[in-house]
Amino acid sequence: MKTYGHYINGAHVSGESGRFGNIFNPSSGEKYTEIAFANKEEVENAIAAARVAFTTWSATSILKRSRIMARFTQKLYDHQQELAELVSKEHGKVIEDAMGSVLRGIEVAEFASGAPHLQKGEFSDNVASGVDIYSMRKPLGVVAGITPFNFPAMIPLWMSCMAMVTGNTIILKPSEKTPGCVYRLAELFIEAGGPPGVFNVIGGDKYAVDALLCDDRIKAVSFVGSTAIAKSVYDKATANGKRCQAMGGAKNHMVVMPDADLNAVADGIMGAAYGSAGERCMAISVAVCVGDETADKLIDILKPRVSGLKIGPSLESGLEMGPLVTKEHRQKVMDYIQMAKDEGAELILDGRDFVMKGHEQGYFLGGTIIDNVTKDMKSYQDEIFGPTLQIMRVGTFEEAMALTSEHPYGNGASIFTQNGAAARTFADTVEIGMVGINVPIPVPLAFYSFGGWKNSSFGDHNQYGMEGLRFYTKVKTITSRWSKDAIGADFSMPVLK
Ligand code: NAD
Repeated sequence: MKTYGHYINGAHVSGESGRFGNIFNPSSGEKYTEIAFANKEEVENAIAAARVAFTTWSATSILKRSRIMARFTQKLYDHQQELAELVSKEHGKVIEDAMGSVLRGIEVAEFASGAPHLQKGEFSDNVASGVDIYSMRKPLGVVAGITPFNFPAMIPLWMSCMAMVTGNTIILKPSEKTPGCVYRLAELFIEAGGPPGVFNVIGGDKYAVDALLCDDRIKAVSFVGSTAIAKSVYDKATANGKRCQAMGGAKNHMVVMPDADLNAVADGIMGAAYGSAGERCMAISVAVCVGDETADKLIDILKPRVSGLKIGPSLESGLEMGPLVTKEHRQKVMDYIQMAKDEGAELILDGRDFVMKGHEQGYFLGGTIIDNVTKDMKSYQDEIFGPTLQIMRVGTFEEAMALTSEHPYGNGASIFTQNGAAARTFADTVEIGMVGINVPIPVPLAFYSFGGWKNSSFGDHNQYGMEGLRFYTKVKTITSRWSKDAIGADFSMPVLK
């Protein structure tokens, strides 16, 4: 059994703390390995290695860094299948979905390879006689990334590619449930010509995160996970003087207008609510139907499709949904289904009845549809993060938009309609960070940026795109005079003439 330890300064290091987490195969329910949880000394070793590497890496030419990133991108393409199999095995999402998620991470590596253009500063020539002003974007130093279980390759790539290409060195602390990919990413970076110490990995839990948050040598922290932890990480990191972006949970609404093409809506919902067993921060978990007729017709189309979902072990091809990540998480989702029922919602389909023949110990659930959900219900206010779709019925577009805007989470939302004016008003005014129009999961491509609003994100910068570049750099501005003329002493506020 290969146990995950740490990856420091270009080498695997076994963990010495004596504390371990178990990793299970969600399709079989069997434990297949362990991950060591770092102690303070191991975290410090990683920080020290990253700090030493920063001196030479930040002084390495930007062309060289971007060429290493381009070679890393090619390595990622070469190993896309292997990485996807690791994602699928540890997380439980089906292999085709895992392939897509790895690709979305590779796209960030591709974008980052353009750093010589992206990291350019500004220049103003001759703002006064012989005086020029220019600015440059400098790396921050050693940065930390803390990632969730649900995108074991993509989210670590969001963070590491943008951080490293801009001249920082990084310590990634992957989810202890799905860590395997991050170790492979670090190895592939070395194979691509990356220097040791630039990309480090620490296996660990809250203890390792706290050690990173308290160390003065860590200059920035990027976190993605649940809202309560995102908020506490943000508070602690910023209190300790670090730059921090902390993305949290979500409850993404899809507004279905009476004029929408309901077959297209159903296609969108099938992938967006049940793909990855609903364990996506951009999953559609609420369909807000304008008019009872819209809701009734949509349920008629969805019911046979959801009960016929092709569910099975994640590495088998041709399936639509695999198991949930852990036994505990499956139980949490089941508890929310019961809560919805107890709160007075109507279970149109109850996924708890599903049995995966031959894999009874796997963490499977069937697709669930819950109708007549109202905004006072706790099962509506909370993120469920499972293959459950909640249906709400409202009378007007304005009510649908208000409901979406007033929810404490603000990651994504979409509207399905043929009405351009309604779509435009929704996109323009809804209090949500990422909006889809006739698109169910509006995850921006690598050259835009990813980030929600309200309780879905703390901090000022989004992930990747130019926002990511800004997060990982600080601006230095230089004013220079090269003039033969004497200027004399001037005791008033300098004003250029
Ligand atoms: P989580 O918050 O349990 O864990 C995220 C990371 O924080 C892990 O690396 C974990 O080890 C660490 N951690 C756990 N407890 C901690 C503590 N007390 N102090 C410090 N660190 C701690 O999240 P998860 O269950 O792995 O991931 C699912 C959540 O992530 C969902 O809420 C989902 O919506 C969210 N998510 C958000 C986005 C986004 O961009 N907004 C993207 C993906 C996932």
